[in-house]
Parts: sequence; C-alpha cells; structure tokens
Amino acid sequence: MKNNIPESHDINVDPLELKKFNQLAHRWWDQNGEFKPLHEINPLRLNYIERSGDLKGRNILDVGCGGGILSEGMALRGAHVTGIDLGEKSLKTAKLHLLETGAHVDYREITVEELANEQPCYYDIVTCMEMLEHVPDPASIVRSCAKLVKSGGWVFFSTLNRNPKSYLFAIIGAEYLLGLLPRGTHDYAKFIKPSELAHMASDAELCVENITGMTYNPITKIYTLEPDSSVNYIMACRA
Ligand code: SAH
Repeated sequence: MKNNIPESHDINVDPLELKKFNQLAHRWWDQNGEFKPLHEINPLRLNYIERSGDLKGRNILDVGCGGGILSEGMALRGAHVTGIDLGEKSLKTAKLHLLETGAHVDYREITVEELANEQPCYYDIVTCMEMLEHVPDPASIVRSCAKLVKSGGWVFFSTLNRNPKSYLFAIIGAEYLLGLLPRGTHDYAKFIKPSELAHMASDAELCVENITGMTYNPITKIYTLEPDSSVNYIMACRA
C-alpha cells in the first residue's frame, strides 16, 4: 500500500487477467467479436435472473461487469443497476455505451470487498457472471457478494465447471477449434466445480437454490439452459 492506494498484490485481482480484458475493451459491444458468446447467453441469463421476480425497481449489483452487457440488460428491464469492475478501459466502454442506448447504470471502479464494507445488506440482487474463474481468491468474492445482498435477496454466480469435458469444450473447443473465444481466455486450473462453489456459498451463509447448465450446441450454434452443468453453469443462491 502506497499513499493509501492499494497495489494489485494487496487486493484480490490478477493483473494479467485485467490486462487481457482491458486490451479487448473496445470490442465489448461487437456482437460478432471476442465477446460474442456473452451476447448470446445474455437473454438466457437475464431470463434466469428474472425467475426470482420482476427486475423493475430492484437494486442490483453486477460484480465484474466488464463492458456492461449484463448490467445494461438488467437496467433495460427496469432495475437500478450498479456495475463494478477493476478494468478501467472496460468501464469506460460501458459508460460510453450508455450514451448510445440511454440506459442508466452506475459504473464504479472498486473491489467487491471494499464495496461490501461500504454498502452491507444493500442490494436485492447481486450478480457475478463469468468472473470467479479469473480471480485469485473466488471465495472472498462470494463472501463479499453475500455481505452486499439483503436478507432474503438473491445472488447469482456463473462460471465454468472443472472436468475433462469442460477442458475439452471450454478450452480446446471454444478457444482452439471453434474460435468462439480468444486463445488464453481461460485457465483450466481456475475452473470451479459446482460442489466447490456451493461450499463457498454455504460458508458465506448463502443457500443454494438452483444450479442450471448453459450449453452450446456447435451444430445449431445455439446456447440453451439445460440441467447438464458439466461445462458452463449458473447458480442461484438466496441470502
Ligand atoms: N460479467 C461480465 C463480464 C465477464 S468477463 C459478463 O458476463 O458479461 C470478466 C470480467 O471480470 C472482466 O471485465 C474483468 O475485468 C473482471 N474482473 C477480473 N478480476 C476482477 C476483480 N478482481 N474485480 C472486479 N472485476 C474483475
């Protein structure tokens, strides 16, 4: 810590991961670019989140919001959304995109751990999608999300399962064979099994209500929500 500004080794962030996303920051809203899979799964995850109730008027925090694909989607469904990320360039892209759509999202560059001290029990819903597999200590993120949500509120996580099939589909398939994602996007060792995430959640006093898979069919090129959580999955937890 120098001049009260935390250095990256003091906080729960991998600087190489941030760099990777910042370098692609101008591409967040290109529907056919590197983030195409996130655009394609967005309606699915929005509908999944909305199963917890109408988003209109709800206070939602989106952790690791990137360029705001999910944050904006939730705002356009009427929620009051705060999006946080540590990628300065990604946040810039997210803010600029609001000018195009007229949506309202409060974007902030702050760690989730810090925000949890600032706004405990504030949010109706906390989302943290496709981010846990990019941080050094995912359990700390889960604990902070649990701290930020109101009692009775919902926390949604999505990440990648860790098994030979997810290695084959998420790394070999998506990055090397189909070119859906840039090579090096994911590090297999950081993938998280649903049982491990469920442990982190229950350690943080969250109750796991549902686990659903998000599956890509390479023939039809369509993503669907499925019971099979062997590769991508979403977990819904209640505080
Ligand atoms: N949640 C978004 C973006 C996922 S990409 C979506 O699903 O559409 C992963 C994002 O996590 C990137 O924007 C990256 O900058 C961010 N990230 C990585 N480590 C982080 C950390 N420790 N704190 C906040 N954001 C982080």
